[in-house]
Amino acid sequence: MSSKNGKLIVFSAPSGSGKTTLVRYLLAQDIPFGFSISATSRLPRGAEQDGVDYYFLTEAAFREKIAQNAFLEYEEVYSGNFYGTLRTEVERLWASAKHVLFDIDVVGGLNIKQQFPEECLALFVQPPSLEELEKRLRGRGTDSEETIQQRLAKAKEELAYAPQFDRVIVNDNLETAQQEVRKAIEQFLQS
Ligand code: 5GP
Repeated sequence: MSSKNGKLIVFSAPSGSGKTTLVRYLLAQDIPFGFSISATSRLPRGAEQDGVDYYFLTEAAFREKIAQNAFLEYEEVYSGNFYGTLRTEVERLWASAKHVLFDIDVVGGLNIKQQFPEECLALFVQPPSLEELEKRLRGRGTDSEETIQQRLAKAKEELAYAPQFDRVIVNDNLETAQQEVRKAIEQFLQS
């Protein structure tokens, strides 16, 4: 895979830390970004649409793609739920002269950084505290208590990876975080 001039911008963070809001903000800026739509074997949540939020695959279809080496990276993020980045997705965005934005988990994010050390900027979005994270997850109102507990346990593990990222953005005040992210990316794209 060759990037020509396209770069890779990875956003990783515990779910509920606000990274999806930051990604949406960036996609609305005048920088040619394309969002990497991940594949997943989990079921759609709320109003999520196939081919927009994720490519929703059955577990069997997901495993078949693993066997075909179709993923740049993939993981069983929660037990029984696979998530991964298809090579074809990144190639599609690079072919249309876009920089690729990823909203993926910390291990997947670091995996991409390792494969593309020069072309990739890896950002970690950190929630102000675990208490605030729990509040946000409950406020979303879409997940069961079991799912919330699973996500909180995973968040604790994920916070330990923050130092391995190029930049840590603490999402306390959304506007400040947006400015910080935009500046970091502009600097990286100019370098
Ligand atoms: P959710 O179920 O809340 O949409 O996502 C669960 C977790 O999977 C999040 O931490 C999200 O960042 C991560 N995730 C989404 N897509 C990918 C992917 O393509 N690869 C990896 N490794 N993780 C992903």
